[in-house]
Amino acid sequence: MNSAWLSKPYYSLDAYLKYTYKEKYYKLALDGGFTCPNRDGTLGQGGCIFCSAGGSGDFAARTTPASVKEQILAGRQVFSEKNTGSRLIAYFQAYTGTYAPVSYLQDMYTAALSLPEVAGISIATRPDCLGEDVLELLAALKKRYPEKFIWIELGLQTIHEDTASFVGRGYPLPVFEEAMTALTERNIPVIVHVILGLPGETPDMMYETVRYLNHIPDTRGTSHAALHPFGVKLQLLHILQNTALADMYLENRIAGFSTLSQAEYTDILIHALELLSPDIVIHRLTGDGPKDLLIAPLWSLNKKNVLNTLHKTMKQRQTYQGRCFYAAGPTDFI
Ligand code: SF4
Repeated sequence: MNSAWLSKPYYSLDAYLKYTYKEKYYKLALDGGFTCPNRDGTLGQGGCIFCSAGGSGDFAARTTPASVKEQILAGRQVFSEKNTGSRLIAYFQAYTGTYAPVSYLQDMYTAALSLPEVAGISIATRPDCLGEDVLELLAALKKRYPEKFIWIELGLQTIHEDTASFVGRGYPLPVFEEAMTALTERNIPVIVHVILGLPGETPDMMYETVRYLNHIPDTRGTSHAALHPFGVKLQLLHILQNTALADMYLENRIAGFSTLSQAEYTDILIHALELLSPDIVIHRLTGDGPKDLLIAPLWSLNKKNVLNTLHKTMKQRQTYQGRCFYAAGPTDFI
């Protein structure tokens, strides 16, 4: 285990921020007023089957037309500097944060980047919403704000096309790879979202997704030189009210499907961490859905317990992020 990991058995975002910026930052979720091509009819109407009305964010519904600046200033008052540090990461979380005319995007991102309390921005989006104009804007903003960072968060969820099709992700894997290449060429760090526990996926399938991100030759013999993202969010599948997945789940329409128990999730998560390269920063280890919309699994509401159980079990097993990555060697690991 790396001593720079702040006593955790994985490379957490907290550890990364502390050793990179010598400061604690907190992440403030923003609603930039975006929509999503998977919801507005361009690609589909219903969105991914697990996506709630808030667009995969904490926003159960759009309630305020507040500007980005107003949201940041209001958010600032909620947190005490003692616990969070004095600066923040402005997180464009709701819906698809690059899906708008580029002039609108520029206004949104600049509104955040120009505030002194904003250390950087993180934009959640889809890999098929990163056109050349958007990439050019991101590169230009990087030059204009060299002391701040710009991260992109991509919702991959799984590498398995059957699962992706079932959940209605709306793009095939090569689109993700092209986006990774384009972002890597522009030195824009990427955080990849992976969901553990999707219908039809065995633990081995989830591990294949994690191994793929290491950009090690996979079972098909291909390599993915542009992968190996800056960070990963490993998320438990949540079933949220008013989603297509909730309807299927409540009506027992997915043969053999059940949500993961805490013991199953802990085991899968630990092995996913063991497989993952130790230099990939872990941005999340649980779910992040709105509590009042959660149908299952309810044990995940106690985040503190989920993380304490994970830490305790990893300690008992004397394991850590990258243990299997090293054990197998980065070139012959399959
Ligand atoms: S791409 Fe994101 S915002 Fe769009 S439907 Fe899927 S989860 Fe929701």
